[in-house]
Amino acid sequence: MSDKKDDSFTLYDLQVETIKTDRDLVCAHEEGVNFQVIGENLVFPKDSKFSLYALAALLPLLPAKQRMTDENDWMTTDDVIACPDPNCGAQFRITRIAKHEFNHSDCTIVPLDKN
Ligand SMILES: [Zn+2]
Repeated sequence: MSDKKDDSFTLYDLQVETIKTDRDLVCAHEEGVNFQVIGENLVFPKDSKFSLYALAALLPLLPAKQRMTDENDWMTTDDVIACPDPNCGAQFRITRIAKHEFNHSDCTIVPLDKN
């Protein structure tokens, strides 16, 4: 049980950026296109486009990358995800750009067990 006296917790804000490799891009990716993950929100720059299939590959990893991880955990060190199209050379770099504090009571109606 935590000794914390409030209901705050910290998540990383993330940036996901399309990066090019030496292989051709098959999908409609554009190098440098990015979005941010802030809490539960995906924040896209105005008028930007991002591949549905690439997003589907990234989504399972984003909540884990938002959280504090052990320095020896591969989730801490590994930050490049390949496009799910095996013929496509695009990759996506997930960068922890900031820490953001949230309150449990702002995120859920389920009470904390303070016993
Ligand atoms: Zn692709």
